[in-house]
Amino acid sequence: MLGPIVGGKKRDGETSFEVLRPFDGTAYEEVASAGAALIDEAFALSEEARGAIKAMTRKERADVLSKVSARLAEGRERIAAILVSEAGKTIREARTEVDRAANTFMFAAEEARRLGGEVIPFDAAANGVGRQGFSLKVPIGTIVAITPFNFPLNLAAHKIAPAMAAGNPFILKPASQTPVSGIELVRIILECGWPAGGAHVVPGRGGAIGDALVSDARGAMVTFTGSAEIGKRISSLAGYKRIAMELGSNSAVVVTDTADLDFAAERIVRGGFALAGQVCISVQRVIAHRAIFEDLVARCVKVALGMKVGDPMEETTDMGPMIDEKAAAAFHARVKEAAGLGGKIVTGGGLDGTLHEPTIITSIPREAALWREEAFGPVIVMNPYDTFEEAVEAVNDSKYGLQGGIFTANVDEAFQAVNRFDVGGVIVNDVPTFRVDHMPYGGVKESGIGREGLKYAIEEMTEEKLVCFNFWKP
Ligand code: NAP
Repeated sequence: MLGPIVGGKKRDGETSFEVLRPFDGTAYEEVASAGAALIDEAFALSEEARGAIKAMTRKERADVLSKVSARLAEGRERIAAILVSEAGKTIREARTEVDRAANTFMFAAEEARRLGGEVIPFDAAANGVGRQGFSLKVPIGTIVAITPFNFPLNLAAHKIAPAMAAGNPFILKPASQTPVSGIELVRIILECGWPAGGAHVVPGRGGAIGDALVSDARGAMVTFTGSAEIGKRISSLAGYKRIAMELGSNSAVVVTDTADLDFAAERIVRGGFALAGQVCISVQRVIAHRAIFEDLVARCVKVALGMKVGDPMEETTDMGPMIDEKAAAAFHARVKEAAGLGGKIVTGGGLDGTLHEPTIITSIPREAALWREEAFGPVIVMNPYDTFEEAVEAVNDSKYGLQGGIFTANVDEAFQAVNRFDVGGVIVNDVPTFRVDHMPYGGVKESGIGREGLKYAIEEMTEEKLVCFNFWKP
């Protein structure tokens, strides 16, 4: 049985839980849960290890991070198989996630090497004359990382790798649906030479162990990726510590009448149905110019119908299952609600266990949950616009604001989108689903607080320490 790793050792749990394969509901792993005593021990060991980790040179930190990157690359097929089993992503999506996680650690190694402060121009102030100095970036302390089910490896990497580059201990709590890859990652990190007191993984139900992890004063920062509902709860409990929140969205993309429609349709369908739509920057809402609307819908439907849905382990499968039957049924109810409110299902709409057909709905009313809320399932809703003002208004008609996209050949429209979309990132001539792991990534409004992307996460996981030398005597 897998379980917590605390203090460099595999530990027993007080209770355990079962991890199921989303595709067929069969048992995959039994995982022991961490209890309050083990969490307390993880914090205590992290406190003890802080000094030693802070004292590691940048090269030493970078060397461990590089080794982890190499180990992930070497273990690509084995780790990808874990992701297929626990998350239900297709084998091709799973390989991509492993590649990205290896990259994330590689970027962190590079950032660790160039982690430095800056020279401060003291004499810009009258009372600064005769002073010289600089700032240092120092680690802040134990980073508590809480991750969701959908990218269990790379989103853990996005928290752990910058924590290590900055010189901090960390405690990872993976999602209960997908804890295996997180446990494997921490095992690899320890084998690569990271101090045993500074790398812990504590699986367990968020509802049972979350509060203890979040509210412990020995945590310097809670970095969370998951739903807005849990994110808000964590923010209210975290108290006097830093928080980073990577939450949900119902991302929109505008397709103008100057867009390359074949390219846009291909990207929209891939962006909407990757990981069965369970991606925080999934294409959910498409707002297309009325002149090309029907044409774009037809092209999207054609691409969607060409997708093979089924066993995620098969090389030719394009879309696998949703995470579990409960999530699939809740999502399906929203598809039915949209249809009941007048939305027109132009393709898909069917559900079989955890496999939901890739679904495209037009004429979606704005009161439908599939417009207002995060769908987190394989759906793309499409509505036409007449004026560009209407398109901008529709994009911003959301409580979320993670990323937005626009397909246009018109520079003015592109810059209108850049300046007026109320989101954390604007992707011109591609879907909001686009991400590389070193770019600043995060949302506005209810999509979150703070930015990931190694350099930016390291900023949040370090403190600027000032040094001032006085050379002036009266
Ligand atoms: P979730 O239900 O919010 O769970 C996320 C994590 O929080 C899990 O580890 C969960 O543990 C834990 N948790 C649950 N209750 C908790 C509590 N009271 N205290 C502390 N932790 C608690 O989200 P999910 O269903 O796994 O993931 C889907 C969500 O993540 C979507 O909203 C999606 O948009 C968002 N997401 C955002 C990004 C981004 O970068 N912005 C990326 C990916 C996903 P258990 O599993 O044990 O409940």
